Amino acid sequence: MKILVMNCGSSSLKYQLIDMTGESVLAKGLCERIGIEGSVLKHAPAGKAEFVCQRPMKDHTDAVTLVLDALTDASHGVVKSAGEIIAVGHRVVHGGEFFSASVLINSEVKAAVKECCALAPLHNPANLIGIDACEKLIAGKPQAAVFDTAFHQTMPPKAYLYAIPYELYEKYKIRKYGFHGTSHMYVSRQAAKMLDRPVEELKTVTCHLGNGASICAVDGGKSADTSMGFTPLQGLAMGTRSGDIDPAVVSFLIEKEGMTAKEVENLLNKKSGMAGLSGVGSDFRDLDAAVEKGDERAKAALDLFYYRVAQYVGAYAAAMNGLDAIVFTAGIGENSAIVRESVCQYLGFLGVAVDSAANKQRGKAADISKEGAAVRVLVVPTNEELVIARDTLGLIE
Ligand code: ADP
Repeated sequence: MKILVMNCGSSSLKYQLIDMTGESVLAKGLCERIGIEGSVLKHAPAGKAEFVCQRPMKDHTDAVTLVLDALTDASHGVVKSAGEIIAVGHRVVHGGEFFSASVLINSEVKAAVKECCALAPLHNPANLIGIDACEKLIAGKPQAAVFDTAFHQTMPPKAYLYAIPYELYEKYKIRKYGFHGTSHMYVSRQAAKMLDRPVEELKTVTCHLGNGASICAVDGGKSADTSMGFTPLQGLAMGTRSGDIDPAVVSFLIEKEGMTAKEVENLLNKKSGMAGLSGVGSDFRDLDAAVEKGDERAKAALDLFYYRVAQYVGAYAAAMNGLDAIVFTAGIGENSAIVRESVCQYLGFLGVAVDSAANKQRGKAADISKEGAAVRVLVVPTNEELVIARDTLGLIE
């Protein structure tokens, strides 16, 4: 029962082959610079040395071919033939209002994913190319689409509508969609297990803090609100994204700097956030090191980051009229004790209290709250690939 999980970007492809009997990862890897000079495959089979292959990949079909070669190779492979793969699960970024759950891919599904390309012009076309490549090379095997947006389709209109003319929602579907849904769903369910309580009874705020970062109010197991919006640019300040700003800044920059709308969008997505504010970069380890050396701008950037996360947690506690648990996940949330502690320092009034000793550990599931604290604070490593594989298996069974 081996399922191949695929995550295709415009010039990259990440994959994992998971054996669903025991849910163990047999191999994982990454193709980079697809269609660009210097393409490379990095393949990590479980228990064996990493295999790196520099070979031109002109498109995703070439990349999938190389991945299948690596998976079935006599020395660094993990299966005898591609025939052992029973299904493929694809991460698809945008499912618009079409999908509130994972689905098996057929021509209607592909048409709907294509329609959502306008909403995710960088991601959905790449996802479709990956699906086509797998249909060609792993022919006859079921393929599933698992959407970043699906979990958030339970948000009520008051959470997902923007206060702009309603006709624009009708015409272009301009609204909040939210992203990282697979992660928010997974960690909120894991948290319920750790607390030994039914997810239906819990009010949880999940903080997915990675290069991209978003927060979700999970009320009774369902997304009630989330910080990313029409695109991943809304919400928290992130590694290179501005997060929430006054939209009038856009026209101000266009006028004063002579920039095009696209250039401003690029500035807000790629040159802002922690990198833009600090001038140091977007990696929190570098920012922490800079603060240690007395860098005031890095400190100001991190202070803003903590403050924004705490503000969202407070807002979502109000949105749900209660809070049982806060969950930290993804690269920063799982690893950075400073981030968790600094965010939680704002939240004592809600009954949040972090145990400094428990908070020291990294990358493992843990309850880091002080004994008796009214709100539990948990660290839960996310696992989006496993959710994709489980959903795929569920759909074919
Ligand atoms: P992505 O959004 O690319 O999936 P990740 O969830 O992998 O991102 O998070 C990557 C980020 O996690 C890095 O840019 C870095 O800022 C942060 N990170 C990783 N390890 C640590 C650590 N030990 N301390 C603080 N931050 C860390």
